[in-house]
Amino acid sequence: MNTELRLAGVIRESIVDGPGWRFVVFVQGCPHHCLGCQNPQTHSFDEGYITTVENIVNAVKEDGLLTGVTLSGGEPFTQAKPLTVLAREIRKLGLDVMAFSGYTYEELINGATEENGWLELLSELSLLIDGRFVESQKSLELRFRGSRNQRIIDVQKSLSTNTVVLSELN
Ligand code: SF4
Repeated sequence: MNTELRLAGVIRESIVDGPGWRFVVFVQGCPHHCLGCQNPQTHSFDEGYITTVENIVNAVKEDGLLTGVTLSGGEPFTQAKPLTVLAREIRKLGLDVMAFSGYTYEELINGATEENGWLELLSELSLLIDGRFVESQKSLELRFRGSRNQRIIDVQKSLSTNTVVLSELN
């Protein structure tokens, strides 16, 4: 539980970062550099601050109204191993965990290694909103997403059927 995370910040209660009432963890560091990114301050891998899984879990426990935790960024999959530890603790509380990623689902599945821990993190997620932000496909009408290429994926159904299953939230 004293596993370290490098974060850009958190939002303790959000209704715009996934279904329900959510605690949002913004990780620090992103390799994608999408044109028009809304969070350029999260790109550097040296900035932000260090905290622990324990601190985040305690903050989540203080709020009895939460539906779940959203991992955002930055790129959560650059810290997949500590976030897997976090996700397991959050799920023990009966809450769900979802993530945004600039990687597509297929990139994460095909690029998963023992070292990067991508599959282990995916295995803990209910939903994944995937793909880089593409400014030419930007839309303000999309639920939870910034651009039309991004998808809301039902991760558990996708893993069990070995195909991409979209969530009905799309
Ligand atoms: S993946 Fe997200 S945080 Fe990273 S550059 Fe693209 S929009 Fe910004």
